[in-house]
Amino acid sequence: MTLSFTSLGLSEARISHLESMGYTEPTAIQAEAIPHLLSGRDLIGQAQTGTGKTAAFALPMMEQVDSSNPTVQALILTPTRELAIQVCQAMRGFRISGRPKVLALYGGQSIERQQEQLNRGTQIVVGTPGRVLDLLNRGSLSLKSLGWLVLDEADEMLNMGFIQDVEKILSKAPADRQTAFFSATMAPQIRELATKYLQSPVTVTVQSPKASPKQIQQVSYIVPRGWTKVRALQPILELEDPETAIIFVRTRRTAGDLTRQLQAAGYSVDEYHGDLSQSQRERLMMRFRQQQVKLVVATDIAARGLHVDDLTHVINFDMPDAMESYVHRIGRTGRAGKNGVAISLVTPLEKYKLRQIERHTKQPMTLMKIPTRAEIAARNLERLRSQVRDAITSERLASFLPIVSQLSEEYDLRTVAAAALQMAYDQTVPAWQREHHSSDPELSERGVPLPKKRKGSTSESREVSKAKE
Ligand code: AMP
Repeated sequence: MTLSFTSLGLSEARISHLESMGYTEPTAIQAEAIPHLLSGRDLIGQAQTGTGKTAAFALPMMEQVDSSNPTVQALILTPTRELAIQVCQAMRGFRISGRPKVLALYGGQSIERQQEQLNRGTQIVVGTPGRVLDLLNRGSLSLKSLGWLVLDEADEMLNMGFIQDVEKILSKAPADRQTAFFSATMAPQIRELATKYLQSPVTVTVQSPKASPKQIQQVSYIVPRGWTKVRALQPILELEDPETAIIFVRTRRTAGDLTRQLQAAGYSVDEYHGDLSQSQRERLMMRFRQQQVKLVVATDIAARGLHVDDLTHVINFDMPDAMESYVHRIGRTGRAGKNGVAISLVTPLEKYKLRQIERHTKQPMTLMKIPTRAEIAARNLERLRSQVRDAITSERLASFLPIVSQLSEEYDLRTVAAAALQMAYDQTVPAWQREHHSSDPELSERGVPLPKKRKGSTSESREVSKAKE
């Protein structure tokens, strides 16, 4: 059965506007939540980013606020300023003729400017709890006319310790209002909060659009004692050769350090963080999508603003604390029926987490040893072999045949083919890795351990690479 926006109770004008944006059918969360919200019910929506949850609360809200009344009638709380900006922009996109007004309020921006903007009047506010509370306390923001209150990513707000601020805001809002909580997970504290602040809510749960776990191959590497993680990461990157990957780290500081170290080692890598300007952000996202940058280093929080779904790899440089974060991270690869690889770097002390992950995801975790240089070289040659096979069936091949004929008068055909392969190999593999073909003694010092007997890991690594192709 195909669903339509018409059957959900939205206005004709809104529906044709949505159509002009390419929204022809509602997503599952929209189909389920919109009718309830339009009818005035409180709601708990269990849905992740990417499910269309923003429109699920924004559309009914925008149908009902009074654009001729300049007071704040709807408040959406988000855990991060990135999300506040993103939700605000999405909502502006849903408007007809620029109404109602939507304003984003978050820390790090001049509070005076925000006070001025509030003075000019707005119907909808999207903000982070700290700044919203600050503006409430200063008397710059009034919730007297508030009819809607939404908590977006409520579980993240809890994780980030905003719960007290959120409760203060909730208690300042008029009792006669409609409230909705959206959260990817339903932690007991969220349910408690819902019991306290929602009135006989309906609960709507949708599956996230991520791939079935089978399409995500989970691989982990133990960082050898005495090694830094950066040293361990490099041979892994060489072996896997990700087309697009997010490397998750715990802190902003690690993100900066790791990015600099990888850049110095010649990798195509950038850091994504909350302090980038909108245009820097967009530029990075575009370069990432076009694979001009292959690796992006980010914290969990920053990565929320990174809208790139087609990742071939997700790399856990630092393991997340919560299982939910792990699942959320790896869900960013293996989308749209494609295969994805989730790589985790674990210290010997963190090894126990691997069993937990297996139990939680109900999918096997393949434990691999850091690849040796010989294995990386073998992998590169294997990749070359498959590229040659592709080239043999390509149409452009014919244009090179005359050169081959000429050269074959001087040299043996095998020699010609090997020389061509060497040229191709050197184009794709950085100089320092061409150990088998290099006589530079310094190169043999680079830190990859001697090959050890590995339990079936060679065939596993092959499987990983096959999965990518
Ligand atoms: P969200 O989960 O709200 O972040 O939305 C994820 C993405 O899906 C956004 O890029 C939306 O613009 C898009 N989207 C949401 N609803 C629809 C829809 N009904 N049809 C097409 N795209 C949608």
